[in-house]
Amino acid sequence: PLQYSSKKNAFGTVVSGTKASAGLPQAGDEFDFYRSFPGFQEFCESQGDTLLHCMSRLMQHHGCRSLIKDQNKLTGLEERFDLVVDSNDVILERAGILLDEADGLNRSQRPVMPAGFQPPKILVSSWNREVGRSKTFRLLQAKNIARPQLKFREKIDNSNTPFVPKIFIKPNAIKPLPSLREERPEDLDVPPALADFIHQQRTQEQVDDMFAHPYQYELDHLSMPERLVLKTQEPQMYKPMAETNLFIITALEDLVDLNEKLCKLPEFAVDLEHHSYRSFLGLTCLMQISTRDEDFIIDTLELRSEMYVLNEAFTDPSIVKVFHGADSDIEWLQRDLGLYVVNLFDTHQASRALNLARHSLDHLLKHFCNVESDKRYQLADWRIRPLPDEMVQYARADTHFLLYIYDTMRAQLLEFGHGQPGLLQSVWNRSKEISLKKYVKPIFTEESYLELQKKQKKFFNTQQLTTFRLLFAWRDKLARQEDESTGYVLPTHMMSKIAEELPKEPQGIIACCNPVPPLVRQQVNELHLLVQEAREMPLLKESTNIRGQKREKSNSETGELTPKPRKKQMKVAEKPQDTFKPFDYSQSDLNVFADAKSKESTQFDPNRQDKTKKKKMPKGQKNNFGAGNRSMSYMAGKSERGFHHNWPKR
Ligand code: AMP
Ligand code: MN
Ligand code: ZN
Repeated sequence: PLQYSSKKNAFGTVVSGTKASAGLPQAGDEFDFYRSFPGFQEFCESQGDTLLHCMSRLMQHHGCRSLIKDQNKLTGLEERFDLVVDSNDVILERAGILLDEADGLNRSQRPVMPAGFQPPKILVSSWNREVGRSKTFRLLQAKNIARPQLKFREKIDNSNTPFVPKIFIKPNAIKPLPSLREERPEDLDVPPALADFIHQQRTQEQVDDMFAHPYQYELDHLSMPERLVLKTQEPQMYKPMAETNLFIITALEDLVDLNEKLCKLPEFAVDLEHHSYRSFLGLTCLMQISTRDEDFIIDTLELRSEMYVLNEAFTDPSIVKVFHGADSDIEWLQRDLGLYVVNLFDTHQASRALNLARHSLDHLLKHFCNVESDKRYQLADWRIRPLPDEMVQYARADTHFLLYIYDTMRAQLLEFGHGQPGLLQSVWNRSKEISLKKYVKPIFTEESYLELQKKQKKFFNTQQLTTFRLLFAWRDKLARQEDESTGYVLPTHMMSKIAEELPKEPQGIIACCNPVPPLVRQQVNELHLLVQEAREMPLLKESTNIRGQKREKSNSETGELTPKPRKKQMKVAEKPQDTFKPFDYSQSDLNVFADAKSKESTQFDPNRQDKTKKKKMPKGQKNNFGAGNRSMSYMAGKSERGFHHNWPKR
């Protein structure tokens, strides 16, 4: 309500200010007449000073140059106008960023570090030009947190091909892993045509099997273990963390021991920690396992290629694996570790079934264990090694209490169902559905960009949309190649901004990014070429999908711009096939804008011309470009330098 009322207040103030300004004597004869009175002149001077002072303070507040009110009047009018325009840029830009943030567009993925941890300085990675004879550029290692990928035995497959399960040994199998069948249809006593057909069928089946969930069959034939429903056992209280042994596992032999230990238990709790910023597909960094007596933290970066040994316990249908919110974990386990879960119990699903107030783990911890957890480390950079103690403690707490929570929730689910297992069964079923999830690799298609663009809630004209498409492809390719997230290469909100602004200069691309991503800085010329390519596109009356124009972001957003007004020029142009460029003022009739007498000349933005047709303008009304008209600031923005010098002198 406060926001609403202050917004209303601000709007009212702006409206009355605009009204008052419109009520002032008009430039020209009217003003000259009034100015012949000394009183008027004096009043104007003092008000002018006050205004300039106000503006100057506003500009200072935003860290802009503010020589606007220099006593010696050394600064010319034009120069001052520049300063105002620059400041407006800064202020509106800031507002834009905040609005984006409010929209959730700008979720920055800054890794959280534990208190006292000195984040290494991020060094801009450098390029090895021309490796060998090939013209490809290779990124040298950034010298901050060591990239764990470098130590992986199997190289990461970022290729634009579907994910193939990593599993090669299948413990607890009812149906064996698909293997290439040696028997050829030719060996059968059938005509060649039929043999071909059978061969085709089999090949297709093999391909399907290759991509299928390796435990699909086992999970399809699994029913809820009886033991889950037994009401005999009371919830078993967790041991205090201080009295619980913690094992940090970084060696294969310890992992094998752990697996043997787990295989003897009726249940254990599991959680994972993940890193997604400096990797294309993401990295599983840590696995936490808690039994009733012990906590384990496994370095899954170190043991990535060995983790599969846990499949023996993880796919044992008689052992319950308790996770909280396993949706992502199930995918990460498959993708990085080749692990599958048979007999999952997800406490998040239980929380939903019990209709608890909130379903997050910290809420369950508070609710069932009266433990305050600090979820700050959720977004920590889990690649850090050695793992700081705070992070170890945090990670450990994610599974330490989970078996007790599982006990309690199970009892409550039975209680809720008056002893009938229906509710428990449905939680178990949902958990099974989750364990059946298959990891799907992000696949780049010619249409991928559209999906993302739709989420931007912006009207894009053809040039802007083309820019977005080209940048999207550039970013995807580079991210796969360098094994970085697309968000690291070029965050979506910056990509969207570049598309929106269509900067003419490489510098303009840099200006759209704050902070500038290292790869953008390195490849700014390539990016510039892409934007230029997009600017060659004819501007069609094509606006994209978007549900509603939420707010006007810039003049270049006017998707309804049509080439019509330029048709004349097209005839004059040397090459008639030249597509017209809407912002190329060198080709435009600048006289229109330089004409001081024309009232419409304050309509200095050629983009706007089509939008606000003269007819639609109430007669005599100035097209007031003050008061928050963002287009002004963009017109005079860095990439369009020089143009506003043709504005009418007033
Ligand atoms: P958790 O299951 O809460 O331990 O989270 C597992 C992993 O998911 C973390 O290591 C993060 O990488 C990721 N994650 C969890 N919560 C968030 C969040 N709110 N935003 C982004 N990533 C998250
Ligand atoms: Mn988790
Ligand atoms: Zn966790």
